[in-house]
Amino acid sequence: MLGLMQERPLLISSLLEHAACYHADREIVSRTCEGRLRRDTYRTLAHRSRQLAHALIRMGVKPGDRVASLAWNTHRHLELYYAVSGIGAVLHTVNPRLFPEQLTYIINHAGAKVVMYDITFDKLVADLRPTLDHVKTYVALTDADHMAGMPEGSLCYEDLLAAEPTEFDWPVFDENTASGLCYTSGTTGNPKGVLYSHRSTLLHAMMLCQVDGLALSSRDATLLCVPLFHVNAWGVPYGSPLCGAKLVLPGPNLDGKSLYELAKTEGCTFSLGVPTVWMGFLDHIEKTGADAKSELMMQRLIVGGSAAPKSLMRKLDDLGIHAFQAWGMSETGPVATVAHALPKHDALSEEARFDLRCMGGRPMFGVELRLIDDEGRVLAHDGDTPGELQVRGPWVTSGYFGGEGTGPDAEGWFSTGDIATVDPDGFVRITDRAKDVIKSGGEWISSIDLEDAAMRHPQVAEAAVVGVPHPRWQERPLLVVVPKGDAPDKAALRDFLTDYVARWWLPDDVVFVDELPHTATGKLQKMVLRKAYAEYVLPDVATGNRGAAE
Ligand code: ADP
Repeated sequence: MLGLMQERPLLISSLLEHAACYHADREIVSRTCEGRLRRDTYRTLAHRSRQLAHALIRMGVKPGDRVASLAWNTHRHLELYYAVSGIGAVLHTVNPRLFPEQLTYIINHAGAKVVMYDITFDKLVADLRPTLDHVKTYVALTDADHMAGMPEGSLCYEDLLAAEPTEFDWPVFDENTASGLCYTSGTTGNPKGVLYSHRSTLLHAMMLCQVDGLALSSRDATLLCVPLFHVNAWGVPYGSPLCGAKLVLPGPNLDGKSLYELAKTEGCTFSLGVPTVWMGFLDHIEKTGADAKSELMMQRLIVGGSAAPKSLMRKLDDLGIHAFQAWGMSETGPVATVAHALPKHDALSEEARFDLRCMGGRPMFGVELRLIDDEGRVLAHDGDTPGELQVRGPWVTSGYFGGEGTGPDAEGWFSTGDIATVDPDGFVRITDRAKDVIKSGGEWISSIDLEDAAMRHPQVAEAAVVGVPHPRWQERPLLVVVPKGDAPDKAALRDFLTDYVARWWLPDDVVFVDELPHTATGKLQKMVLRKAYAEYVLPDVATGNRGAAE
Protein backbone atom coordinates (compact mmCIF):
# COMPACT_ATOMS: atom_id res chain seq x y z
CA MET A 1 0.00 0.00 0.00
CA LEU A 2 1.33 3.42 -0.92
CA GLY A 3 1.11 6.36 1.46
CA LEU A 4 -1.31 9.13 0.70
CA MET A 5 1.12 12.03 0.79
CA GLN A 6 1.91 14.52 -1.94
CA GLU A 7 4.71 13.76 -4.31
CA ARG A 8 6.15 17.26 -4.68
CA PRO A 9 9.56 16.83 -6.28
CA LEU A 10 12.59 18.23 -4.46
CA LEU A 11 13.67 20.99 -6.83
CA ILE A 12 16.36 23.66 -6.46
CA SER A 13 13.96 26.41 -7.56
CA SER A 14 11.92 25.73 -4.41
CA LEU A 15 14.87 26.83 -2.24
CA LEU A 16 14.96 30.18 -3.99
CA GLU A 17 11.21 30.73 -3.85
CA HIS A 18 11.12 29.76 -0.17
CA ALA A 19 13.80 32.34 0.67
CA ALA A 20 12.16 34.99 -1.54
CA CYS A 21 8.94 34.47 0.39
CA TYR A 22 10.11 33.93 3.98
CA HIS A 23 13.58 35.50 4.15
CA ALA A 24 13.05 38.17 1.50
CA ASP A 25 15.10 40.90 3.19
CA ARG A 26 18.01 38.73 4.31
CA GLU A 27 21.15 40.03 2.66
CA ILE A 28 23.55 38.64 0.09
CA VAL A 29 26.68 40.77 0.00
CA SER A 30 29.24 40.34 -2.75
CA ARG A 31 32.57 41.77 -3.73
CA THR A 32 32.14 42.14 -7.47
CA CYS A 33 34.81 41.72 -10.12
CA GLU A 34 34.33 45.41 -10.95
CA GLY A 35 35.54 46.13 -7.42
CA ARG A 36 32.34 47.41 -5.77
CA LEU A 37 30.64 45.82 -2.80
CA ARG A 38 27.10 44.95 -3.87
CA ARG A 39 24.12 44.33 -1.63
CA ASP A 40 21.30 42.02 -2.65
CA THR A 41 18.57 40.22 -0.75
CA TYR A 42 16.86 36.89 -1.36
CA ARG A 43 14.07 38.98 -2.96
CA THR A 44 16.42 40.51 -5.53
CA LEU A 45 18.25 37.19 -6.01
CA ALA A 46 14.89 35.66 -6.97
CA HIS A 47 14.01 38.57 -9.28
CA ARG A 48 17.31 38.42 -11.09
CA SER A 49 17.40 34.60 -11.28
CA ARG A 50 13.95 34.65 -12.87
CA GLN A 51 15.13 37.26 -15.38
CA LEU A 52 18.11 35.05 -16.17
CA ALA A 53 15.82 32.03 -16.60
CA HIS A 54 13.92 33.94 -19.31
CA ALA A 55 17.18 35.03 -20.93
CA LEU A 56 18.57 31.48 -20.99
CA ILE A 57 15.45 30.15 -22.66
CA ARG A 58 15.58 32.99 -25.19
CA MET A 59 19.20 32.03 -25.86
CA GLY A 60 18.02 28.52 -26.74
CA VAL A 61 19.15 26.71 -23.59
CA LYS A 62 17.09 23.52 -23.26
CA PRO A 63 16.61 21.09 -20.36
CA GLY A 64 19.73 18.96 -19.98
CA ASP A 65 22.02 21.46 -21.75
CA ARG A 66 25.25 22.24 -19.96
CA VAL A 67 25.94 25.90 -19.19
CA ALA A 68 29.53 26.42 -18.05
CA SER A 69 30.63 29.09 -15.60
CA LEU A 70 34.12 30.50 -15.11
CA ALA A 71 33.40 32.74 -12.18
CA TRP A 72 34.24 33.77 -8.63
CA ASN A 73 31.91 33.91 -5.64
CA THR A 74 29.60 36.77 -6.57
CA HIS A 75 25.87 37.45 -6.71
CA ARG A 76 25.86 36.78 -10.46
CA HIS A 77 27.39 33.32 -10.09
CA LEU A 78 24.78 32.58 -7.44
CA GLU A 79 22.06 33.63 -9.91
CA LEU A 80 23.42 31.05 -12.37
CA TYR A 81 23.09 28.42 -9.62
CA TYR A 82 19.35 29.06 -9.47
CA ALA A 83 18.43 30.03 -13.02
CA VAL A 84 20.36 27.37 -14.93
CA SER A 85 19.30 24.46 -12.70
CA GLY A 86 15.86 25.97 -12.23
CA ILE A 87 14.96 25.62 -15.92
CA GLY A 88 16.21 22.01 -15.96
CA ALA A 89 19.59 22.75 -17.53
CA VAL A 90 22.88 21.76 -15.88
CA LEU A 91 25.24 24.29 -14.32
CA HIS A 92 28.75 23.17 -15.14
CA THR A 93 30.96 25.05 -12.69
CA VAL A 94 34.51 25.12 -14.02
CA ASN A 95 37.57 25.83 -11.91
CA PRO A 96 39.29 28.72 -13.70
CA ARG A 97 42.58 28.11 -11.90
CA LEU A 98 43.21 24.89 -13.80
CA PHE A 99 45.68 24.74 -16.68
CA PRO A 100 44.16 25.81 -20.03
CA GLU A 101 44.58 22.26 -21.43
CA GLN A 102 42.58 20.88 -18.50
CA LEU A 103 39.90 23.54 -19.01
CA THR A 104 39.59 22.63 -22.67
CA TYR A 105 39.36 18.94 -21.79
CA ILE A 106 36.70 19.52 -19.13
CA ILE A 107 34.48 21.96 -21.04
CA ASN A 108 34.60 19.79 -24.18
CA HIS A 109 33.99 16.63 -22.21
CA ALA A 110 30.98 18.26 -20.54
CA GLY A 111 29.69 19.36 -23.97
CA ALA A 112 28.88 22.86 -22.70
CA LYS A 113 26.85 25.03 -25.12
CA VAL A 114 27.19 28.30 -23.23
CA VAL A 115 30.09 29.78 -21.25
CA MET A 116 29.38 32.54 -18.75
CA TYR A 117 32.52 34.19 -17.43
CA ASP A 118 33.73 36.90 -15.09
CA ILE A 119 35.53 39.84 -16.66
CA THR A 120 38.75 38.80 -14.89
CA PHE A 121 38.81 35.80 -17.24
CA ASP A 122 38.54 37.76 -20.53
CA LYS A 123 42.01 36.69 -21.73
CA LEU A 124 41.53 33.11 -20.59
CA VAL A 125 38.24 32.87 -22.50
CA ALA A 126 39.78 34.46 -25.62
CA ASP A 127 42.57 31.84 -25.51
CA LEU A 128 40.25 28.92 -24.82
CA ARG A 129 37.65 29.82 -27.41
CA PRO A 130 39.29 28.25 -30.48
CA THR A 131 39.66 24.97 -28.53
CA LEU A 132 36.05 24.67 -27.32
CA ASP A 133 34.07 22.38 -29.59
CA HIS A 134 30.45 22.81 -28.54
CA VAL A 135 30.15 26.34 -27.14
CA LYS A 136 27.83 28.58 -29.15
CA THR A 137 27.31 31.51 -26.78
CA TYR A 138 29.65 33.47 -24.54
CA VAL A 139 28.26 35.77 -21.86
CA ALA A 140 30.40 38.25 -19.89
CA LEU A 141 29.09 38.50 -16.32
CA THR A 142 29.12 42.29 -16.17
CA ASP A 143 27.34 45.48 -17.21
CA ALA A 144 27.61 47.49 -20.43
CA ASP A 145 30.20 49.84 -18.89
CA HIS A 146 32.68 46.98 -18.53
CA MET A 147 32.23 45.21 -21.86
CA ALA A 148 35.26 46.85 -23.50
CA GLY A 149 37.97 44.28 -24.13
CA MET A 150 35.69 41.26 -23.68
CA PRO A 151 36.14 38.51 -26.30
CA GLU A 152 34.32 39.49 -29.49
CA GLY A 153 30.71 38.45 -29.83
CA SER A 154 30.20 38.08 -26.08
CA LEU A 155 26.79 39.02 -24.73
CA CYS A 156 26.45 41.39 -21.79
CA TYR A 157 24.86 39.72 -18.76
CA GLU A 158 23.23 42.82 -17.30
CA ASP A 159 21.75 43.77 -20.69
CA LEU A 160 20.28 40.28 -21.01
CA LEU A 161 18.66 40.53 -17.59
CA ALA A 162 17.35 44.07 -18.09
CA ALA A 163 15.29 42.93 -21.07
CA GLU A 164 13.37 40.29 -19.08
CA PRO A 165 10.49 40.29 -16.56
CA THR A 166 11.13 39.48 -12.90
CA GLU A 167 8.35 36.89 -12.77
CA PHE A 168 8.83 33.34 -14.01
CA ASP A 169 7.02 30.05 -13.48
CA TRP A 170 9.69 27.52 -12.65
CA PRO A 171 9.00 24.25 -14.45
CA VAL A 172 8.22 21.19 -12.34
CA PHE A 173 10.08 18.04 -13.33
CA ASP A 174 11.56 14.82 -11.94
CA GLU A 175 13.69 15.50 -8.87
CA ASN A 176 16.32 13.08 -10.21
CA THR A 177 17.02 15.49 -13.08
CA ALA A 178 20.68 16.56 -13.30
CA SER A 179 21.32 20.01 -11.81
CA GLY A 180 25.07 20.53 -11.66
CA LEU A 181 28.24 19.10 -13.12
CA CYS A 182 31.52 19.50 -11.31
CA TYR A 183 34.84 17.90 -12.20
CA THR A 184 37.19 16.61 -9.51
CA SER A 185 40.25 18.80 -9.44
CA GLY A 186 42.38 15.91 -10.56
CA THR A 187 44.62 15.53 -7.49
CA THR A 188 44.63 11.85 -8.28
CA GLY A 189 44.41 11.71 -12.07
CA ASN A 190 42.31 12.97 -14.99
CA PRO A 191 39.37 15.17 -13.95
CA LYS A 192 36.10 13.25 -13.80
CA GLY A 193 32.62 14.72 -13.88
CA VAL A 194 30.29 14.32 -10.91
CA LEU A 195 26.70 14.98 -11.93
CA TYR A 196 24.49 16.17 -9.09
CA SER A 197 20.71 15.95 -9.13
CA HIS A 198 18.03 18.23 -7.69
CA ARG A 199 17.15 15.53 -5.19
CA SER A 200 20.74 14.92 -4.00
CA THR A 201 21.29 18.67 -3.73
CA LEU A 202 18.17 19.30 -1.65
CA LEU A 203 18.70 16.37 0.71
CA HIS A 204 22.30 17.46 1.25
CA ALA A 205 21.19 21.09 1.82
CA MET A 206 18.63 19.95 4.41
CA MET A 207 21.32 18.07 6.31
CA LEU A 208 23.65 21.09 6.32
CA CYS A 209 20.98 22.94 8.29
CA GLN A 210 20.86 20.27 11.00
CA VAL A 211 22.54 21.08 14.30
CA ASP A 212 24.76 18.04 13.82
CA GLY A 213 25.37 19.00 10.19
CA LEU A 214 26.82 22.49 9.68
CA ALA A 215 24.14 23.96 11.99
CA LEU A 216 23.45 26.56 9.32
CA SER A 217 20.53 28.79 10.37
CA SER A 218 18.81 32.11 9.76
CA ARG A 219 21.01 33.55 12.51
CA ASP A 220 24.15 32.93 10.49
CA ALA A 221 26.05 35.34 8.31
CA THR A 222 28.28 33.05 6.27
CA LEU A 223 31.56 34.13 4.74
CA LEU A 224 31.76 31.74 1.82
CA CYS A 225 35.46 31.14 1.19
CA VAL A 226 34.95 27.88 -0.69
CA PRO A 227 34.65 28.77 -4.36
CA LEU A 228 31.31 28.30 -6.08
CA PHE A 229 33.34 26.50 -8.75
CA HIS A 230 34.50 23.88 -6.28
CA VAL A 231 31.99 21.15 -5.34
CA ASN A 232 29.10 23.60 -5.15
CA ALA A 233 30.89 25.49 -2.38
CA TRP A 234 30.17 22.53 -0.10
CA GLY A 235 26.42 22.98 -0.62
CA VAL A 236 26.21 26.24 1.31
CA PRO A 237 24.66 28.21 -1.61
CA TYR A 238 21.71 25.81 -1.34
CA GLY A 239 21.56 25.50 2.45
CA SER A 240 21.55 29.28 2.93
CA PRO A 241 18.23 30.12 1.24
CA LEU A 242 16.73 27.01 2.83
CA CYS A 243 17.26 28.54 6.29
CA GLY A 244 17.62 32.22 5.43
CA ALA A 245 21.29 32.64 6.34
CA LYS A 246 23.00 35.84 5.20
CA LEU A 247 25.60 35.12 2.53
CA VAL A 248 28.83 37.06 2.14
CA LEU A 249 30.63 36.36 -1.13
CA PRO A 250 34.26 37.52 -1.36
CA GLY A 251 34.52 37.64 -5.18
CA PRO A 252 38.03 37.22 -6.51
CA ASN A 253 39.70 38.40 -3.27
CA LEU A 254 40.56 35.40 -1.12
CA ASP A 255 43.61 36.92 0.56
CA GLY A 256 43.74 37.15 4.35
CA LYS A 257 43.26 40.91 4.51
CA SER A 258 40.15 40.98 2.28
CA LEU A 259 38.55 38.05 4.10
CA TYR A 260 39.24 39.56 7.50
CA GLU A 261 37.77 42.92 6.50
CA LEU A 262 34.61 41.30 5.10
CA ALA A 263 34.20 39.06 8.16
CA LYS A 264 34.51 42.13 10.36
CA THR A 265 32.30 44.60 8.51
CA GLU A 266 29.56 42.07 7.66
CA GLY A 267 29.44 40.48 11.13
CA CYS A 268 30.10 36.99 9.82
CA THR A 269 29.34 34.21 12.31
CA PHE A 270 30.32 31.20 10.25
CA SER A 271 32.84 30.37 7.58
CA LEU A 272 34.38 27.47 5.76
CA GLY A 273 37.39 26.87 3.58
CA VAL A 274 40.51 24.85 2.90
CA PRO A 275 43.53 25.14 5.24
CA THR A 276 45.52 27.44 2.91
CA VAL A 277 42.77 30.08 3.07
CA TRP A 278 42.93 30.06 6.88
CA MET A 279 46.71 30.20 6.86
CA GLY A 280 46.44 33.49 4.94
CA PHE A 281 43.72 34.73 7.29
CA LEU A 282 45.79 33.99 10.42
CA ASP A 283 48.90 35.42 8.81
CA HIS A 284 47.08 38.70 8.30
CA ILE A 285 45.99 38.77 11.94
CA GLU A 286 49.53 37.97 13.11
CA LYS A 287 51.18 40.56 10.88
CA THR A 288 48.78 43.41 11.61
CA GLY A 289 48.11 42.56 15.25
CA ALA A 290 44.37 42.90 14.48
CA ASP A 291 42.21 42.41 17.57
CA ALA A 292 40.21 39.53 16.10
CA LYS A 293 38.65 38.61 19.43
CA SER A 294 36.79 41.87 19.69
CA GLU A 295 36.46 42.74 16.00
CA LEU A 296 35.04 39.46 14.70
CA MET A 297 31.71 37.80 15.48
CA MET A 298 32.90 34.51 14.01
CA GLN A 299 31.59 31.63 16.11
CA ARG A 300 32.17 28.53 13.99
CA LEU A 301 34.58 27.77 11.25
CA ILE A 302 35.13 24.63 9.20
CA VAL A 303 38.55 23.69 7.95
CA GLY A 304 38.05 21.02 5.34
CA GLY A 305 38.89 19.82 1.87
CA SER A 306 42.23 18.45 3.03
CA ALA A 307 43.85 17.53 6.33
CA ALA A 308 43.86 20.48 8.70
CA PRO A 309 47.09 20.99 10.65
CA LYS A 310 46.34 20.94 14.37
CA SER A 311 48.49 24.03 14.85
CA LEU A 312 46.10 25.91 12.56
CA MET A 313 43.01 24.64 14.37
CA ARG A 314 44.54 25.66 17.69
CA LYS A 315 45.28 29.19 16.51
CA LEU A 316 41.68 29.62 15.37
CA ASP A 317 40.49 28.28 18.70
CA ASP A 318 42.73 30.75 20.52
CA LEU A 319 40.83 33.55 18.77
CA GLY A 320 37.63 32.22 20.33
CA ILE A 321 36.46 30.61 17.07
CA HIS A 322 35.12 27.06 17.36
CA ALA A 323 37.11 25.38 14.58
CA PHE A 324 36.11 21.92 13.43
CA GLN A 325 36.59 19.62 10.47
CA ALA A 326 34.34 18.07 7.93
CA TRP A 327 35.24 15.42 5.41
CA GLY A 328 33.93 14.76 1.95
CA MET A 329 34.74 14.89 -1.72
CA SER A 330 33.17 15.91 -5.02
CA GLU A 331 31.68 12.43 -5.26
CA THR A 332 29.97 12.71 -1.86
CA GLY A 333 27.87 15.77 -2.32
CA PRO A 334 30.44 16.89 -0.86
CA VAL A 335 29.82 16.90 2.90
CA ALA A 336 29.65 13.39 4.36
CA THR A 337 31.03 13.62 7.90
CA VAL A 338 31.22 16.48 10.38
CA ALA A 339 33.29 16.62 13.57
CA HIS A 340 30.81 17.27 16.39
CA ALA A 341 31.39 15.75 19.81
CA LEU A 342 28.68 13.62 21.44
CA PRO A 343 27.26 14.22 24.96
CA LYS A 344 29.40 11.35 26.26
CA HIS A 345 32.48 13.33 25.27
CA ASP A 346 31.59 16.21 27.62
CA ALA A 347 33.54 14.52 30.38
CA LEU A 348 36.73 14.36 28.32
CA SER A 349 39.59 16.83 28.75
CA GLU A 350 39.63 19.97 26.61
CA GLU A 351 42.58 18.50 24.66
CA ALA A 352 40.72 15.25 23.93
CA ARG A 353 37.64 17.13 22.72
CA PHE A 354 39.86 19.34 20.59
CA ASP A 355 41.36 16.16 19.06
CA LEU A 356 37.85 15.00 18.13
CA ARG A 357 37.24 18.26 16.27
CA CYS A 358 40.46 17.67 14.34
CA MET A 359 39.12 14.40 12.98
CA GLY A 360 37.09 14.04 9.81
CA GLY A 361 33.93 13.66 11.88
CA ARG A 362 30.86 11.43 12.07
CA PRO A 363 28.47 10.64 9.22
CA MET A 364 25.44 12.87 8.78
CA PHE A 365 22.17 10.97 8.47
CA GLY A 366 22.00 9.43 5.01
CA VAL A 367 25.70 8.64 4.73
CA GLU A 368 26.78 5.05 5.34
CA LEU A 369 30.47 4.23 5.85
CA ARG A 370 32.66 1.17 5.91
CA LEU A 371 36.35 0.28 5.75
CA ILE A 372 37.83 -2.42 3.56
CA ASP A 373 41.28 -3.97 3.23
CA ASP A 374 43.24 -4.66 0.03
CA GLU A 375 41.21 -7.85 -0.56
CA GLY A 376 37.90 -6.06 -0.14
CA ARG A 377 37.24 -7.57 3.32
CA VAL A 378 35.21 -5.36 5.64
CA LEU A 379 37.26 -4.13 8.62
CA ALA A 380 36.32 -3.34 12.21
CA HIS A 381 35.30 0.17 13.29
CA ASP A 382 37.62 0.07 16.29
CA GLY A 383 39.32 3.43 15.83
CA ASP A 384 42.60 1.63 15.18
CA THR A 385 42.47 -0.46 12.03
CA PRO A 386 43.16 1.55 8.86
CA GLY A 387 41.47 0.66 5.62
CA GLU A 388 40.04 2.26 2.51
CA LEU A 389 36.96 4.29 3.27
CA GLN A 390 33.84 3.43 1.28
CA VAL A 391 30.59 5.40 1.38
CA ARG A 392 27.08 5.21 0.04
CA GLY A 393 24.02 7.36 0.32
CA PRO A 394 21.52 9.52 -1.55
CA TRP A 395 24.12 12.23 -2.28
CA VAL A 396 26.95 9.88 -3.25
CA THR A 397 27.75 9.49 -6.94
CA SER A 398 26.33 6.52 -8.81
CA GLY A 399 28.88 6.91 -11.65
CA TYR A 400 30.89 9.56 -13.47
CA PHE A 401 29.61 11.68 -16.37
CA GLY A 402 30.44 9.91 -19.60
CA GLY A 403 30.87 6.59 -17.81
CA GLU A 404 34.55 7.10 -17.01
CA GLY A 405 36.42 6.04 -13.90
CA THR A 406 35.24 3.52 -11.35
CA GLY A 407 31.84 4.10 -9.86
CA PRO A 408 30.34 2.30 -6.87
CA ASP A 409 30.05 -1.49 -6.68
CA ALA A 410 26.77 -3.35 -7.17
CA GLU A 411 25.71 -2.63 -3.57
CA GLY A 412 26.34 1.08 -3.99
CA TRP A 413 29.65 1.27 -2.07
CA PHE A 414 31.86 3.97 -3.52
CA SER A 415 35.61 3.66 -2.88
CA THR A 416 36.92 7.06 -1.84
CA GLY A 417 40.64 6.40 -2.23
CA ASP A 418 41.11 7.72 1.32
CA ILE A 419 42.72 5.63 4.04
CA ALA A 420 41.00 6.05 7.38
CA THR A 421 40.16 4.57 10.73
CA VAL A 422 36.59 4.67 12.07
CA ASP A 423 35.88 4.40 15.79
CA PRO A 424 32.81 2.69 17.31
CA ASP A 425 30.97 6.05 17.42
CA GLY A 426 31.61 6.54 13.72
CA PHE A 427 34.39 9.12 14.05
CA VAL A 428 36.43 9.00 10.88
CA ARG A 429 40.12 9.80 11.01
CA ILE A 430 41.61 10.29 7.57
CA THR A 431 45.20 9.08 7.74
CA ASP A 432 46.07 9.48 4.09
CA ARG A 433 45.08 9.22 0.50
CA ALA A 434 45.75 5.71 -0.75
CA LYS A 435 48.25 7.16 -3.23
CA ASP A 436 50.05 9.31 -0.65
CA VAL A 437 50.51 6.77 2.12
CA ILE A 438 54.19 5.82 2.54
CA LYS A 439 54.73 2.09 2.43
CA SER A 440 57.85 1.38 4.45
CA GLY A 441 58.80 -2.28 4.81
CA GLY A 442 55.18 -3.43 4.60
CA GLU A 443 54.01 -0.91 7.21
CA TRP A 444 52.16 2.29 6.49
CA ILE A 445 53.33 5.76 7.48
CA SER A 446 50.73 8.51 7.42
CA SER A 447 52.02 11.51 5.49
CA ILE A 448 49.22 13.60 7.02
CA ASP A 449 50.35 12.87 10.60
CA LEU A 450 53.97 13.63 9.78
CA GLU A 451 53.06 16.92 8.09
CA ASP A 452 50.89 17.83 11.04
CA ALA A 453 53.76 17.21 13.47
CA ALA A 454 56.25 19.18 11.34
CA MET A 455 53.88 22.15 11.16
CA ARG A 456 53.91 22.46 14.95
CA HIS A 457 57.55 23.59 14.70
CA PRO A 458 57.77 27.40 14.94
CA GLN A 459 60.17 27.62 11.99
CA VAL A 460 57.92 25.61 9.63
CA ALA A 461 55.42 27.55 7.53
CA GLU A 462 54.22 24.59 5.47
CA ALA A 463 55.24 20.96 5.21
CA ALA A 464 54.68 18.06 2.84
CA VAL A 465 55.80 14.48 3.17
CA VAL A 466 56.25 12.14 0.22
CA GLY A 467 57.58 8.63 -0.08
CA VAL A 468 60.82 8.28 -2.02
CA PRO A 469 62.30 4.98 -3.19
CA HIS A 470 64.52 3.05 -0.79
CA PRO A 471 66.30 -0.19 -1.72
CA ARG A 472 65.60 -1.89 1.63
CA TRP A 473 62.30 -0.37 2.80
CA GLN A 474 60.71 0.22 -0.65
CA GLU A 475 59.79 3.74 0.41
CA ARG A 476 60.87 6.15 3.11
CA PRO A 477 59.44 9.57 4.02
CA LEU A 478 61.05 12.76 2.76
CA LEU A 479 59.98 15.95 4.49
CA VAL A 480 59.72 19.01 2.26
CA VAL A 481 59.50 22.24 4.23
CA VAL A 482 58.79 25.87 3.49
CA PRO A 483 60.64 27.56 6.36
CA LYS A 484 59.23 30.44 8.36
CA GLY A 485 62.17 32.84 8.59
CA ASP A 486 65.48 30.95 9.00
CA ALA A 487 65.38 27.27 8.09
CA PRO A 488 65.51 25.04 11.18
CA ASP A 489 68.43 22.66 11.71
CA LYS A 490 67.56 19.30 10.09
CA ALA A 491 68.65 17.16 13.03
CA ALA A 492 66.83 19.40 15.49
CA LEU A 493 63.68 19.23 13.40
CA ARG A 494 63.79 15.42 13.29
CA ASP A 495 64.34 15.45 17.04
CA PHE A 496 61.31 17.70 17.46
CA LEU A 497 59.16 15.18 15.59
CA THR A 498 59.97 12.38 18.04
CA ASP A 499 57.49 13.95 20.46
CA TYR A 500 54.65 13.24 18.02
CA VAL A 501 55.45 10.18 15.89
CA ALA A 502 57.13 6.80 16.22
CA ARG A 503 60.91 6.78 15.62
CA TRP A 504 60.63 4.59 12.55
CA TRP A 505 58.32 7.18 10.99
CA LEU A 506 60.94 9.94 11.15
CA PRO A 507 61.73 11.36 7.72
CA ASP A 508 65.03 10.14 6.29
CA ASP A 509 65.82 13.61 5.04
CA VAL A 510 64.49 17.16 5.00
CA VAL A 511 64.65 19.54 2.05
CA PHE A 512 63.84 23.24 2.20
CA VAL A 513 61.95 24.97 -0.61
CA ASP A 514 60.50 28.44 -1.20
CA GLU A 515 57.02 27.13 -1.91
CA LEU A 516 55.03 23.94 -2.30
CA PRO A 517 52.86 23.11 -5.31
CA HIS A 518 49.11 23.44 -4.72
CA THR A 519 46.16 22.33 -6.78
CA ALA A 520 43.74 24.88 -8.15
CA THR A 521 41.68 24.41 -4.99
CA GLY A 522 44.61 25.07 -2.67
CA LYS A 523 45.48 21.48 -1.77
CA LEU A 524 49.01 20.14 -1.64
CA GLN A 525 49.85 18.61 -4.98
CA LYS A 526 51.52 15.42 -3.86
CA MET A 527 51.58 13.97 -7.37
CA VAL A 528 53.85 16.82 -8.52
CA LEU A 529 56.07 16.45 -5.46
CA ARG A 530 56.33 12.70 -5.88
CA LYS A 531 57.46 13.22 -9.48
CA ALA A 532 59.94 15.92 -8.49
CA TYR A 533 61.56 13.68 -5.87
CA ALA A 534 61.14 10.33 -7.64
CA GLU A 535 64.89 10.02 -8.12
CA TYR A 536 65.88 11.58 -4.81
CA VAL A 537 68.78 9.78 -3.18
CA LEU A 538 68.35 9.66 0.59
CA PRO A 539 71.54 10.28 2.60
CA ASP A 540 71.73 6.78 4.07
CA VAL A 541 71.21 5.24 0.64
CA ALA A 542 74.06 7.35 -0.70
CA THR A 543 76.33 6.29 2.17
CA GLY A 544 75.18 2.65 2.22
CA ASN A 545 73.78 2.84 5.77
CA ARG A 546 70.81 0.68 6.70
CA GLY A 547 68.48 3.65 7.07
CA ALA A 548 66.48 5.59 9.60
CA ALA A 549 63.75 2.97 9.82
CA GLU A 550 65.87 0.76 12.05
P1 ADP B 1 40.19 16.20 -5.49
O1 ADP B 1 40.02 14.71 -5.34
O2 ADP B 1 40.40 16.59 -6.87
O3 ADP B 1 41.12 16.83 -4.50
P2 ADP B 1 37.90 16.86 -3.89
O4 ADP B 1 37.72 18.26 -3.60
O5 ADP B 1 36.73 16.02 -4.17
O6 ADP B 1 38.79 16.81 -5.16
O7 ADP B 1 38.77 16.28 -2.71
C1 ADP B 1 38.35 15.28 -1.84
C2 ADP B 1 39.50 14.78 -1.02
O8 ADP B 1 39.98 15.79 -0.12
C3 ADP B 1 39.13 13.63 -0.13
O9 ADP B 1 39.12 12.41 -0.82
C4 ADP B 1 40.23 13.69 0.93
O10 ADP B 1 41.42 13.04 0.50
C5 ADP B 1 40.50 15.17 1.05
N1 ADP B 1 39.80 15.69 2.24
C6 ADP B 1 38.62 16.33 2.30
N2 ADP B 1 38.31 16.66 3.56
C7 ADP B 1 39.31 16.21 4.34
C8 ADP B 1 39.58 16.22 5.75
N3 ADP B 1 38.75 16.81 6.61
N4 ADP B 1 40.72 15.63 6.19
C9 ADP B 1 41.57 15.04 5.33
N5 ADP B 1 41.38 15.00 4.00
C10 ADP B 1 40.27 15.57 3.51
